This record gives sequence, structure tokens and C-alpha cells, in this order.
Amino acid sequence: MRRFIAAGTSDVGRVREGNEDAYLVADSVVAVADGMGGHLAGEVASSTALEPLRELDGRIFPDAGEALAALRDAVVAANETVVQMAADEPSYRGMGTTLTAALLEGRRLHVAHVGDSRAYLFRDGTFSQLTDDHTFVQHLIDEGQITREEAAKHPQRSMITRAIGVSEEIDVDAMTLELQPDDVVLLCSDGLTGPVSDQAIAEVLGSDDDLDTSLDRLIEMANEAGGPDNITAVILRFEDSDAEATQGPRPVAIQTRDDRGGDDWANRLGSFGSIGSGGGSFISQQSSDRDDPARFGGLVLRSLAIVVGIALLAGGLYGGGRFLLAQSYFISLEEEQVVIFQGIDADLGPLSLSWVSERSELMIDDVAPYYRPTLEEGFPAADINDARRLVRGIPLREDQGEDAEDAADELDTDDGATPDEDATGDGTP
Ligand code: MN
Repeated sequence: MRRFIAAGTSDVGRVREGNEDAYLVADSVVAVADGMGGHLAGEVASSTALEPLRELDGRIFPDAGEALAALRDAVVAANETVVQMAADEPSYRGMGTTLTAALLEGRRLHVAHVGDSRAYLFRDGTFSQLTDDHTFVQHLIDEGQITREEAAKHPQRSMITRAIGVSEEIDVDAMTLELQPDDVVLLCSDGLTGPVSDQAIAEVLGSDDDLDTSLDRLIEMANEAGGPDNITAVILRFEDSDAEATQGPRPVAIQTRDDRGGDDWANRLGSFGSIGSGGGSFISQQSSDRDDPARFGGLVLRSLAIVVGIALLAGGLYGGGRFLLAQSYFISLEEEQVVIFQGIDADLGPLSLSWVSERSELMIDDVAPYYRPTLEEGFPAADINDARRLVRGIPLREDQGEDAEDAADELDTDDGATPDEDATGDGTP
């Protein structure tokens, strides 16, 4: 007799205040979503994205192609819903989520995926990552610029290049897997794979523990490693009681994504293809027409601008989680001037991930001394109006009086990425 069993769990971790991850375990569909966005928006994005998947549960499909198409359609529907909610509700602006989902159809498992939550397969003692992360560091690995080991410690490792809810166009990676008895599939958020090594995860999955015990172990390991992010895992096991029982723990081999190239791994397991509505891979994605390409520093940054997010694990400055580049604003200093930037307050090597949106006439000398370090550090705004409001609220040096306040009210729009040498401006809107 053959059967599938699945279980999932989620834990807030040791650093975050809320849990923006969500997961789904139903009879024939499982999924993990890792939301991002201020306040409750991340939770809304991740739980909303699971709804179209839940509707797939129990459906019978005539063939593998139809099942895979239905799964893909559910992910596209999830994207449309989150995009719409973000457009309708100001407090949801900028929200998004990863989504990694698996649909059982007979002995096949269909997997669809956007973002950096992962699917792994443990089979015959070999632990393999099925999904490719849609992250900037994965792009750097693909380009040969950094190694996987360097990527694991890269400060921008959680900057994602695709997400649900960011754009109406979405590329969905999808694959079909022919299951074998004793296969174990893991879906998880980066709160597990960031702090815990593939080796350690594989040893848990290769044990004879029941699913709940294994899940507890995974959460425990991530928390023991600091629990920097929300941790979510779903385990699915294909059991075959007719087959011989597994004899104790087996040695584990870790197969990385890079190892797969060239051998017949892809043929045996099926390989991911991009089947979304947008077409093209990361580097060929285009930003929408309203964006002037000249504002962005070349093709790579233009691609990133649509969907990049960042995890700032170090501080609560951004309220945790990732940030979506194109919809993000922050206030900081350029030279001595208080400026509203669009993008994110981080640099990736030669790439600057922000550009000047508007300049105020406020100079650092006008600002109350105690507040200057905050400005030097920079702080985020929800949107341009919020940014203007925040600039007006910057506490001024006591003896500055109204002159400086007036200056803060008058913002000079700068629609070019080129630094404006005329830093003081003339205050004309
Ligand atoms: Mn996460």
C-alpha cells in the first residue's frame, strides 16, 4: 500500500516580532510562502497567496500537463490577488511574498516556485535542492562571480529578484517529479536554509523520526543558530509499506544545484522551466514602460528594480524582512543635504540600489544634533508622500527657527539619477 503523508510547522524565530511566513498542508497540495511588507502586510501577502492553492486540493486531473497548468494558474492567480490588494489598500503597498507549492497527482509531484523559499528532495540518501533561488546572489553564482559558500554569507543573500505581488507580470518556475517510495520532499522558507546547512537538514530528513519530530528538530536547529528570521517547513513523505523498511540512518550525500549540470539528474527528475506570463529569465526581464531606463544603472539594475527585495537581518530599522526596491523610499543625506531616495539603502559592489527622488533644502547643520546620526543612517518611508511628511517632521536645531522649516516644506524634484551638483537648489517645485 502506498500513501503520502505531509505535515508543516512555522515558528517566529528569535529575532522577529511577528511571523510573516505562512504554509498550507492539505490532502493533495502543500505550500510555503514568506511574506514581506510593513506592519501586517507581509502576513496578509503570504496567507492570501495560499488561497488559490487551497482551492486545488482534491481536484482530479486527466493528465500531468493539466495538473501542472492548474498549479501554474493558481500561482498566477495568487500574484494577481496580491497585486490587486496592494494597489487597493495603501497600507499594503510594497507587500509581496515568495511562494513554493507542490501538487500531488497520482505518483507525480508538480512543483511551482517564485522567490527564495525552497523545495528539496531526499531520495536514496541524496539530498538535492529542486528549486533555483530567485535571488541576486544566485545570479552572481550563475555568473561565476561568487561561490555558493560566499553566497551563504553574502550580506545581500536575501535580496530576491522575483516575488508574488510585485508586478502583474510573473514568471513561475515549474517542474514535475516522478515520485519513488520513501521519497521525502521538503518545502521551507529561508529562515531555515539561511542559518542551517543542507547537511544538517538532510540528516534530519534521513532519520526514521516521524514528521512532527523532524519538523521540531528543524525549527530547533534554526533557533539554536540564532533564529534570525521566521522559520517554516513542510515535509511530505511518500510511503510504500510494501517495500522493505529502511534500515536505520543512512549516509547522506548533498547534491548542490551546481552538481546537477551535465549529469542525468535533470532527466531523472524533470527540470524546471519558466512558464509564467512574463517570459524570460531574470536578466532579460524588463521594467514596465513607465520607467525611464536612463534612470537606472544599466540592464542588471533595471531588472532588479522591478522585484528586488532585501533582508536586513542586522537591524529592526526596516521592521524586518525584505524590501522591494522599486516601491521603497528612504530619507538620508547626500553630502550635507537631506534627500529622499528611491530604492534601498544598500550598495551591491559597483551597483547603487538607490537614486535621488527629491531633495529638500534642509542641510545637516539645520537638523537637531541628536537626530543627525539617524539621518546619516537613513530611514525608510512607505511612499513618496510619507517621505515628504517625514522630512517635514525632522527635528530642527533650536536656533534655526522657521527658515529651516520652510526649507523642509519645499522639495525640489530631481528626476535624474545623476547627482545634482547644485546641492542647495533654488527651492522651486
Ligand atoms: Mn524569510
